[in-house]
Amino acid sequence: MNRIIEDTGAFDCVECGKCTTVCPVAKYNPNFAPRTVVLKASEGIVENVQTNRDVWTCVTCEMCNSMCPYKVDYSGFIRGMRAEAVKYDNVPVCSQGGLMQEVMRIQADSTVKQSRLDWLKPDLKVADKGEVFYFTGCVSYFDSIFKERPLKLSGIPQAVVRIMNKAGITPVVSNDEVCCGHDLNWTGDEAALKKLMKKNVETIKASGAKKVVFSCPECLRTFNMDYQDIMGDFDFEMVHISELVDDLVKEGKLKFKKGQKKVTFQDSCRLGRHLGIYDPPRNALKAADAQVVEMDNNRDKALCCGVSAWATCDETSRKLQVDRLKEAKKTGAECLVTGCYKCLIHLSCAQENKTQVPKEQIDIPIKDLSVVIAEALE
Ligand code: SF4
Ligand code: SF4
Ligand code: SF4
Repeated sequence: MNRIIEDTGAFDCVECGKCTTVCPVAKYNPNFAPRTVVLKASEGIVENVQTNRDVWTCVTCEMCNSMCPYKVDYSGFIRGMRAEAVKYDNVPVCSQGGLMQEVMRIQADSTVKQSRLDWLKPDLKVADKGEVFYFTGCVSYFDSIFKERPLKLSGIPQAVVRIMNKAGITPVVSNDEVCCGHDLNWTGDEAALKKLMKKNVETIKASGAKKVVFSCPECLRTFNMDYQDIMGDFDFEMVHISELVDDLVKEGKLKFKKGQKKVTFQDSCRLGRHLGIYDPPRNALKAADAQVVEMDNNRDKALCCGVSAWATCDETSRKLQVDRLKEAKKTGAECLVTGCYKCLIHLSCAQENKTQVPKEQIDIPIKDLSVVIAEALE
């Protein structure tokens, strides 16, 4: 625990309370205050981590990290606390009955053959080896688990490959790819993260890829930050699909139809505050002839979709989702665009279920960035 407190700068906390002021969870949950969590941990470390449920309340959105005057890495501190907490059976209450985490652990521990590429269509060109690897993440599992909902998640990897094919790229996709381990890592299971990391890095190296493209910001964050923290720098480049599209447009390799749409963009916590990628998705949308209008809270102030690692879904999550949807609706945009599978899943969940606000205040169509871009291709 001392190492976690030192590594994340938690000892530097001066109890100014700025983190609590900006924390979206503290806004609705009066019993939660990040300042108090840091303080309690540095005062009564072991007792605190054994029983404290606050470590599971935080949505790891990093709003506090970006505001802390002493640069305390609060989300890193929470992640470390969680790894300690699970040792004492202080575990999260995961949504979907823990199904997601189980699916991810099976991928870490077994060699069961997957059907990870069921989303592929005959007109999409992909390869087994090549310069560019497309890491799809767990979208095919999410698609099966939420098949009763109108999410059409398999349309996302289809759109990504369609965009690449249009620009003359035939990406490698692999049935041997496994979950990146993001959600297990953020729920205290670093051992599973390492097993998944080993499999994924071997698969990518075997493909000969020099560049890996991600449509899931959580996968990108996990490779770019967590894997490289453990394994050192990779010899392949890692980019989000929005960065690839931005580059391809600048190189004149993608052309779009005219017909301007007014859209607003949801900066997911991982793509935005964790990775600092704000302009590429906006540039990509503008290139696709969209007018991007901003919500009141955008870029590094963007509101979280309310759930992290399938471990924080509760009444507060719903309030955060409703807040975000109301902001999106208020812009007058025709569509809320997101570059993260999870934002799409969680925000639309609030629309599909009963909430405390009239439906007309939150009923804006939500679409994935790659789908919007692919639909606009000439
Ligand atoms: S903002 Fe930083 S210094 Fe202030 S209470 Fe929070 S963690 Fe401590
Ligand atoms: S990471 Fe987000 S939810 Fe967690 S304490 Fe910080 S601001 Fe609050
Ligand atoms: S918001 Fe909906 S989809 Fe997301 S974890 Fe909660 S119940 Fe599941």
